[in-house]
Amino acid sequence: MQEKIHPNYGPTTITCACGNVIETGSTKKDIRVEICSKCHPFFTGKQKLVDTGGRVDRFKKRFGME
Ligand SMILES: [Zn+2]
Repeated sequence: MQEKIHPNYGPTTITCACGNVIETGSTKKDIRVEICSKCHPFFTGKQKLVDTGGRVDRFKKRFGME
């Protein structure tokens, strides 16, 4: 039993102001953001989402999800 490590960890969703919904796992519930990886100019203005792995990872850390 290791539930004490993540007592409230479970599936949740991040809802962006642009309407994008990201399903993820977090100790937080019903996260809301004003910008996400799909509507941020840095992601949409210069190149396609070809290597989302590292970008999403930083995105998650920015919102304290890891
Ligand atoms: Zn968005």
